[in-house]
Amino acid sequence: MEVFWHDACLEHDPGSGLWELPGEWDCLDVPEPHPESAARLRTFRHALRHGPVARHLTWSPGRFAGDDELARVHTPEYLEHLRDACRRRTNVEVNTVVGPGSWDAVRAAAGTALAAYEAVAEGRARLAYALVRPPGHHAQPGLADGYCLVNNAALVAETARRAGRRVAVLDWDVHHGNGTQEVFRDTPDVLTVSVHMRHGPWGANHAQTGGPEESGPGNVNVELSLGAGDHAYRRAFEEVALPAVTEFGADLLVCASGFDGSAFDPNGRHNLTAAGYRWIGGAVAGLGLPAVLTQEGGYLRGYAALCLHALVEGLLGLELLDDPLAYVPDDTQLVDADLARARSALTGWAFARAVTGDPSARDRA
Ligand SMILES: [Zn+2]
Repeated sequence: MEVFWHDACLEHDPGSGLWELPGEWDCLDVPEPHPESAARLRTFRHALRHGPVARHLTWSPGRFAGDDELARVHTPEYLEHLRDACRRRTNVEVNTVVGPGSWDAVRAAAGTALAAYEAVAEGRARLAYALVRPPGHHAQPGLADGYCLVNNAALVAETARRAGRRVAVLDWDVHHGNGTQEVFRDTPDVLTVSVHMRHGPWGANHAQTGGPEESGPGNVNVELSLGAGDHAYRRAFEEVALPAVTEFGADLLVCASGFDGSAFDPNGRHNLTAAGYRWIGGAVAGLGLPAVLTQEGGYLRGYAALCLHALVEGLLGLELLDDPLAYVPDDTQLVDADLARARSALTGWAFARAVTGDPSARDRA
């Protein structure tokens, strides 16, 4: 597997404050670093370079994206506004902060995701991981949202679509991939699938619900209840997400790969373990499609790095690293209702009609 990297991704500095909220807070003696920090990406890189999976990976340099490339998924007005905002430290949305290094980081993250796509498109790699930040999957054509400025996964998908590929985007960040859904809302020849926790809309820049009412021929949302863990994700993938990708007939997969569904993540209320991410990696590889993965969330950086390592193991059919923290209980009680709800909106999909929501029937099958 080829991993793509650009040092400029480290130049984006959201500063510190009360967790994700910038500024001075009287209650804090020492402000906390913003969770979406350069230290996070450095830790991810270190895990892949020094963990046991390292010898299975090769590394390639990323590049900067050009303005014309960013404009494939964002409006010129938004890009101008963002470039201007990055000249000084300011927040472009309640918890989304930019500063002088951010524009280069944005262009590096987007360009490095495109470099990963180019390696796959040209047959130099079957699996390519763009280890980038800032993340992108909440960014919409004209809006920043949730630490995201430019939608790297959507940019890869749109670039591939224009090259004649049939693209599915599969998003397992714990938050809904609302930005990607929005970019392709009127583009039914790109499928967007998001498996996430039930969190609903938030703030002025996040109107999407992430619920099944937004599902349709080109978008599949699977909301899982709080507490969902390895078991629930496995069923969500096996019973909805993977059959949707297969029925759609994708010839290229773009994965928005987040680790904030881990049991220890401060920004999520799900309970995935490293073993769960290893299983997801194996399931993605099992689709047999060329795939470009872009780094999204994951904020307890040590455990998220371990989850990234495990995901990569799964992608490569390996099992290498023990998980010293895999002791959190997993919710298995709500998944039947969650999946029945997700499928109820998928009236145009054959796989959803074929599956019954009755678990006893499934066990008999
Ligand atoms: Zn997230």
